[in-house]
Amino acid sequence: RLGAAATGGVAFFRPESNAQAVRELQLAAALRHAIERNELTVLYQPQVSLASGQIIGAEALLRWHSPDWGQVSPTEFIPVAERAGLIGAIDDWVLRQACAQSLAWQRQGLPLVRIGVNFSPLQFQQGDVAQQVQKALLDTGADPACLGVELTESTLMDDPVRAAAMLCELKSIGIEISLDDFGTGYSSLSCLRSLPIDVVKVDRSFVNDVTAGPESASVTRSIITMAHGLQMRVIAEGVETEAQLSLLLAKGCDQIQGYWFSPPVPADEVARMLAEHRCLPEHLTTRRSRPR
Ligand code: C2E
Ligand code: MG
Ligand code: MG
Ligand code: MG
Repeated sequence: RLGAAATGGVAFFRPESNAQAVRELQLAAALRHAIERNELTVLYQPQVSLASGQIIGAEALLRWHSPDWGQVSPTEFIPVAERAGLIGAIDDWVLRQACAQSLAWQRQGLPLVRIGVNFSPLQFQQGDVAQQVQKALLDTGADPACLGVELTESTLMDDPVRAAAMLCELKSIGIEISLDDFGTGYSSLSCLRSLPIDVVKVDRSFVNDVTAGPESASVTRSIITMAHGLQMRVIAEGVETEAQLSLLLAKGCDQIQGYWFSPPVPADEVARMLAEHRCLPEHLTTRRSRPR
């Protein structure tokens, strides 16, 4: 097998990666029409406060059901959309769905929740996300207090000066900013201290390990302590067990999101949970009555 260097920059693929390249091309072609063909939907995963036990937010998570390919995971189609130049339109569609959804919940008289929208690094680096959000709010009439953006650290560290300016603009509109998948990149929280980040989302790989032993638990505690020192709140993602939740509570975590409370669900189901005031049992919150 010849490397790209030996062939003047032309890379040869092994059959399996060739098959992968073909699948990517076909997925990209199908994805190009996914919005107009109504193949995309947004699910919402509740985020719960460990202080009040109440649902205070929901993350918008995109789903694609293709008639040809069936259900395709966002971990597969988001990168395809990025490489095919389709992510801008897709992220904008999700943003507008989220705005419309928050208005609908407001009209139903449900408690206010903030919907978190994921933005691809590419969209954040190349587009004007602040202007895009401003426009979506104006067009839909949604309340900025009901909207948040989720960005990963690599998105921000690629061009920290530009990122800082963009985040400040988003903040001035009233949008909450969350740092997604924290702990999976290489930057420390102190690198990010100059950025106006409201919430740190501890990656689910850490949450998964939190009950594994004292070392893992102390890593999580350090993240929480440092975030609090920087006036940022902490949400743990991927909380699957009560044991994880208890430990996170003990370490001072502010919010949780994960299968234990609820997987991502259709908007109607979130509405039902909000209407029923579904919340955490008192002993799993900091408002629990302490024994005298
Ligand atoms: P993310 O933003 O970190 O989203 C969290 C992922 O963890 C979601 O996967 C969610 O379904 C999953 N999850 C939540 N709770 C649990 C749990 O308790 N256990 C486990 N094992 N997983 C849990 P999903 O929906 O497959 O999305 C994967 C990634 O795709 C997201 O990671 C995000 O980076 C990206 N994505 C999803 N929707 C969008 C979108 O609208 N735009 C962009 N640009 N990216 C999106
Ligand atoms: Mg996210
Ligand atoms: Mg995440
Ligand atoms: Mg992720």
